[in-house]
Amino acid sequence: MFTREELQVCKRCSLHKTRTHALVGEGNIHADVMLIAQAPGEREDKENRMFVGPSGEILHTLLNESNIAENELYMTNLIKCNLPKNRKPKQSEIRACSIYLDSEIEAIAPKILAPLGYYATKYIFEKFTLPSFSKKEFPELIGKVFISENYKIFPLSHPASLLYHHEFITKFVNNLKKLKQLSRS
Ligand code: SF4
Repeated sequence: MFTREELQVCKRCSLHKTRTHALVGEGNIHADVMLIAQAPGEREDKENRMFVGPSGEILHTLLNESNIAENELYMTNLIKCNLPKNRKPKQSEIRACSIYLDSEIEAIAPKILAPLGYYATKYIFEKFTLPSFSKKEFPELIGKVFISENYKIFPLSHPASLLYHHEFITKFVNNLKKLKQLSRS
């Protein structure tokens, strides 16, 4: 797998011009479950830590509520550098950065990949040749299990969406509980 030092000097796409840090994943490298978020937020970029901003805080709280210990997980991002003003990722940036996520998946070899949100799910579905879907269709995939190669793929909402849509929190917690059961099965 690539090193933190290698990632810090990456200039494969123009996001290197605006980042403070490129973030490598964190957590248990022997975990059965890999959570894949979209990209580091502003605070993550400044502090060089995963999930320390507002969406990270809500994720930590809900993992705790679902009795998922964070040492059971490896957590990473589809894109390793911050997207200015939290804009959407471009296809060219996803293409450029995906070598790092691919390398993490290969090195960690989790049983379950849980992409958070539309873009991470779209990339994982394409990588594992699962059916394509539109942004409008994405909510229908959340909380369902897809199997490809040796992986179970379990799409979840992005925690950032829960900051604005509190009505999705209960469903998110139920899906985290389902994820825990899945990791035990
Ligand atoms: S987003 Fe990825 S590919 Fe682009 S500069 Fe950062 S680490 Fe490199």
